[in-house]
Amino acid sequence: MHEVPFNRPFVSGFESKHLSEAIELKHFAGDGPATARATDLIRAVSQVPHALLTTSCTHALEMSSLLLDLGPEDEVIVPDFTFVSTANAVALRGAKVVFADIREDTFCLDERLLDDVWTTRTRAVFTVHYGGVGSEPERLAAWCSERGVVLVEDNAHGFGAAWNGKPLGSFGLMSTVSFHETKNLQCGEGGALLTTSDEVLGRAEIVREKGTNRSRFFRGLVDKYTWVGLGSSFLPSELLAAFLLGQLEAIDDIQTRRHAVWDAYRQGLADWASDRGVRMQAVPALAQHPAHLFALLMPSPADQRGLIEHCRMQSVGATFHYQPLSLSPAGQRFGTAAPDGCPVSKAVAERIVRLPLWPGMSEQDVDHVLSVVSAWEPRRSPLNG
Ligand SMILES: *Cc1c(COP(=O)(O)O)cnc(C)c1O
Repeated sequence: MHEVPFNRPFVSGFESKHLSEAIELKHFAGDGPATARATDLIRAVSQVPHALLTTSCTHALEMSSLLLDLGPEDEVIVPDFTFVSTANAVALRGAKVVFADIREDTFCLDERLLDDVWTTRTRAVFTVHYGGVGSEPERLAAWCSERGVVLVEDNAHGFGAAWNGKPLGSFGLMSTVSFHETKNLQCGEGGALLTTSDEVLGRAEIVREKGTNRSRFFRGLVDKYTWVGLGSSFLPSELLAAFLLGQLEAIDDIQTRRHAVWDAYRQGLADWASDRGVRMQAVPALAQHPAHLFALLMPSPADQRGLIEHCRMQSVGATFHYQPLSLSPAGQRFGTAAPDGCPVSKAVAERIVRLPLWPGMSEQDVDHVLSVVSAWEPRRSPLNG
């Protein structure tokens, strides 16, 4: 049977040349020439003045929490529907995670609910651009600056995407990117921390280098390096940076391929979806999305299970997504939510289905997914007709 997995990592072909160069140079630790070149491309794509490669987006988020000097007195607003790392980074510093619900249309943090969860202890909002669709970043940034709250963008999905022409990741004081194997550009495990602030960059270099001023030493700005603050080991090896460089150089090709799949799904499933009460993630007119994922919202939880199983029977890797963090064991321990919880997040978690989307998909793969999904009908129980 024709098999279409949910994801298959893409290799551009440029990676091995950069890997060989790094091996020949015998520079294996971080912050060598490949890191510098990859960093320049990340800054150019994001139009943010400063970027540091990290070992993961998770670590970049942890760096953000360290750089904000979060502590037990502080609260950070986080969308309830996101990967655990967004919240974990806050909880690791002993600060309280405050879960806010998401929008029904884009599945991003609902910026209209921020006033409900704000307190005098609110230090930051960690927003997530779900699927790389901007989480109303202009309104978020305006709300944050009015309240004296820091905006951090978990931009794991949205590298290369934009809102109203301005790249995602350039709206907050800091933003984070993921280069995990499942993201648009990948080096297996990797990420980046971006910041618009010179001052934050200076401290971020220290946090990333085990709390030392080693980066300044290498630039000849101090004559020896020493322990100057809290930090850890957040910089990736040159081998990973070299691989990533080969992906960054292919970003246009990768994005064209992803958009072709996304557009085919959008067009091919429009009538099927509207006839069956299935919704698609909304993309607001101001959002330039990166075709990171293709999400359907099924009419009911039974239909979510039904479609995923129907696809599985025909070797199509469709899947659900995040579980609401406020209802998770750790979320209950480290976080709070508004008294009526996050009902939209719960409903989306129970009804969302994501379809296979990766750059190497052939037209036959896409057609197969379309025909399998189109053949699905909601199962009506005899009781509700
Ligand atoms: C993937 C992901 C992360 C974590 O990325 P890693 O690079 O694997 O640490 C964080 N936040 C979101 C929203 C993600 O999708």
